[in-house]
Amino acid sequence: MNAAAPLSFLRNDWTRPEIEALFALPFNDLLFRAATVHRQHFEPNTVQVSTLLSIKTGACPEDCKYCPQSNRYDTGLEPEKLMEVQKVLDEAKAAKAQGSTRFCMGAAWRSPKKKDMPYVTAMVRGVKELGLETCMTLGMLTQDQADELSEAGLDYYNHNLDTSPEFYGEIITTRTYQDRLTTLDHVRGAGIKVCSGGIVGMGESVRDRAGLLQQLANLPQHPESVPINMLVKVEGTPLAEQQNLDSFDFIRTIAVARILMPQSHVRLSAGREAMNEEMHALAYFAGANSIFYGEKLLTTPNPAANKDMQLFARLGIKPEDRAVEQGDDEAEHTLHERIEHAQNDKLFYDAARAN
Ligand code: SF4
Repeated sequence: MNAAAPLSFLRNDWTRPEIEALFALPFNDLLFRAATVHRQHFEPNTVQVSTLLSIKTGACPEDCKYCPQSNRYDTGLEPEKLMEVQKVLDEAKAAKAQGSTRFCMGAAWRSPKKKDMPYVTAMVRGVKELGLETCMTLGMLTQDQADELSEAGLDYYNHNLDTSPEFYGEIITTRTYQDRLTTLDHVRGAGIKVCSGGIVGMGESVRDRAGLLQQLANLPQHPESVPINMLVKVEGTPLAEQQNLDSFDFIRTIAVARILMPQSHVRLSAGREAMNEEMHALAYFAGANSIFYGEKLLTTPNPAANKDMQLFARLGIKPEDRAVEQGDDEAEHTLHERIEHAQNDKLFYDAARAN
């Protein structure tokens, strides 16, 4: 962090024209501004690493047009029941051994049922005991459910706004925008940190991207995590034939999110498989400082973990030291080791190329 530079301050009153004007900046001016804000608030060469596990897959009654887990679309996805608690804990242990510091658990539900709560709270308690931060995404929550998860020790709850209020009805009809805002309110009310973002590349306009970011930035408190997903076009979903998003438009969205929410972790989430290394590097420069790590992101592929580590090594990026803060350096140690190996691989590769 650059201590000499004045901190860009936090605002919750962004107007749509102000945000659209950011999107309209020349690309390099926008990136310079975003990188400057990033450096004022974060160590710029550090990226937080999370693992995401699908604890209940498919057969979701909602109609989100991008989602292979909806029971309305034939995507060939095999539905799976809620995983046993022990299996989830085994996966969490493996994620920790791979170096993740946060373990996110996702269930394809409209909202959890009463009978599900004892299981999901047991998962939160078990994962916490392993020394990992916990995050869940289970659909809409009542205040009581949010309180129950908070009591179990849940650190983060993910619930995305997906897109602008105006474009939302084109994508989902089975829950309203207000339903989503109400869930975020319950999560905040329970003292759980908020993870909320959206998806770009669904056919929305720049104005819609600005609208999504405006909603997030004007929440009473900025979400601690802001996942920016690039649409993964899954065959069988209504968005399968969507036009490819211009890579620079994706990077612009990251940069504007960084400027609007200077202290939030901006996360590269779904869609990374389709992004090359140069695009990853640009996204990190534009202010992305969190990724999902591992081979599967819910039900779509994610770049192989060691590819991420090799890129980290080439870019001089370090994983965020969360585990060390918790007094448990085993996971961090492992991740550093993996980066060191990746660095050695790169030296070997460079030497081979030079010869
Ligand atoms: S995005 Fe979530 S709520 Fe929507 S269909 Fe998929 S699993 Fe269900």
